[in-house]
Amino acid sequence: MSATIEVRIPNIGDFDTVEVAELLVSPGQKIEAEQSLITLESDKASMEIPAPTAGVLRELRVELGQFVNEGTVIALIEPELGTAGPTESDVTPRLVQEPAAPEPEAPAPAPPDAPVPQSAPPPPMATAKAVSPVLALDALPAADHKTDVAVVGAGPGGYTAAFRAADLGKSVILIERDAALGGVCLNVGCIPSKAMLHAAAIIDEAAEFASRGITFGKPKIDLPVLAEWKDSVVGQLTKGLAQLAEQRGVTVLRGTAGFTAAHTLTVEGEGGAVSVAFSSAIIAVGSRPVMLPDLPEDERIWDSNDAIRIERVPRRLLVVGGGIIGLEMAQVYSSLGSAVTVVELLDGIMPGADRDLVRPLERRMKQRYEAILTGTKVTGVKALKRGLKVAFDGPKAPAHGTYDVVLIAVGRAPNGGSIAAQKADVVVDDRGFITVDDQQRTNVPHIYAIGDVVGEPMLAHKATHEGRIAAEVIAGQPSHFDARVIPSVAYTDPEVAWVGVTGDEVAVRGLDVESAKIPWAASGRARGMGRIDGLTKVIFDRASGRLIGVGLVGPHAGDLVGEAALAIEMGATAADISLTIHAHPTLSETLALAAEAVEGTITDLYMPKG
Ligand code: NAD
Repeated sequence: MSATIEVRIPNIGDFDTVEVAELLVSPGQKIEAEQSLITLESDKASMEIPAPTAGVLRELRVELGQFVNEGTVIALIEPELGTAGPTESDVTPRLVQEPAAPEPEAPAPAPPDAPVPQSAPPPPMATAKAVSPVLALDALPAADHKTDVAVVGAGPGGYTAAFRAADLGKSVILIERDAALGGVCLNVGCIPSKAMLHAAAIIDEAAEFASRGITFGKPKIDLPVLAEWKDSVVGQLTKGLAQLAEQRGVTVLRGTAGFTAAHTLTVEGEGGAVSVAFSSAIIAVGSRPVMLPDLPEDERIWDSNDAIRIERVPRRLLVVGGGIIGLEMAQVYSSLGSAVTVVELLDGIMPGADRDLVRPLERRMKQRYEAILTGTKVTGVKALKRGLKVAFDGPKAPAHGTYDVVLIAVGRAPNGGSIAAQKADVVVDDRGFITVDDQQRTNVPHIYAIGDVVGEPMLAHKATHEGRIAAEVIAGQPSHFDARVIPSVAYTDPEVAWVGVTGDEVAVRGLDVESAKIPWAASGRARGMGRIDGLTKVIFDRASGRLIGVGLVGPHAGDLVGEAALAIEMGATAADISLTIHAHPTLSETLALAAEAVEGTITDLYMPKG
């Protein structure tokens, strides 16, 4: 055996002592130069320590949870024959190239230019039971109302489709069962939750500045006034929608719609039922929260609609489901003063996002929340006078706990089963989804469907995009869904955002990529904000050189992901991004730095390209 070299912790900037958060290799393993050996984590940032040379890992001298500082020996490596012995300066913890992707486990890689799949491919189109023609207005059956286009559901997908169809010269009826237009997103979802998350951020930032020389008093929260402000934000937007509908001559019918035949609907409203005959229809009925089975009837068990009312701040809140809704609501209530526990069935919170992006969020949650119970199942809830007694089953979970409120956020189910679609011969699957083609057509050619009801991801911006396509196709335009990517954003603190191929997908699909990560410790702007816990990750297809994926975590990550989505749609290379002058000092510079790192032209960090 040839001599081994010691790998020591190099200068790690602002930190004296940091914790070993992950062991990424094991003794006996062959490793590449620059391959990450361990991840260190402080309360502000995480960093990976790369191997200074290729070789075989002979010994790992640290353990999970151990605290280390500059000079600690972490590993012994037997260098590959012919490799020059490294010096300590060869180890740079700041910027680490992604480890080589493991062998593909599943399907062969798609061509690099192929649109990036965002979810499971749709099932094959259901065959039409009856192909009905698009009827002109005067050929429609008798009804209280006749229209070119009937849109069922006035969420972001539905109102966008209605407005676009009207702008393209069609007569449009928009049917909505709720009093206000805007659907879940405006009324009880995206918008009120963002208003509340902004309020939460104000509370948290004010508290954090105590250590930086500005101390505010403990916030006094007037809950009714706060809820009223949140409602006024919603109200302004929904009133704006009503005006936009009026300006365009879109007729809004209030009531619950159901198909009665291929060209007719009935709308049950306060004043009774009216019939609508349509040439084309767009189903935009969205989704609803899923509840767990066998829960007691109890007003202390909430879904997301209850949670966003902000009527009370429970002392102890259990959030069941560590997805985006659960984590956003956990954050709001934690900042308002609840002691929060999050329970998630899978091994990690926020499934779908890469772990390196989720880690800074998890670290912050661990500091603030009572507990995060992953790999844990809720096996029962008992309603007692003193609280809801919840039984858990999981390796890290207590047997049970008692909470003042339990919020169920375990996903959403499509509403396709609620519109008597079978009367129009539209096929709805057992779960309530409606399959469409790339022009949003269902199996019945003059009936279209958009948004949550056609499948994952259930995101407002996907629905609006699909709404425009359906309206344009009805107006005779050759539109179809050809977006390469759909961005995802969790508006937690820090925000987590990703678009296109993820690091996990690179591994599963065995893609040949070049990637780089820029820790926000390298960003002057992030430092000035006191938030160096962020990370920007870029993934380029090696053969074409084009950007295929970006992941971000940190404040405003959701705003930064827009540039990344545009770059992917435009087929940008690393040079396109690095040669675009980004304003200084901004967080957007981290995207340019990451592109420079891939090109080997970065100067803000010492990262020689081998
Ligand atoms: P989700 O599917 O994203 O997350 C639900 C989580 O609950 C998952 O992690 C799942 O593993 C877990 N879970 C399921 N059953 C469980 C159980 N019995 N016990 C514990 N955990 C369980 O669903 P969601 O967070 O409710 O969101 C619904 C949809 O709305 C998603 O498509 C989401 O993307 C979308 N949404 C998006 C945003 C946004 O873009 N910011 C915000 C809110 C919602």
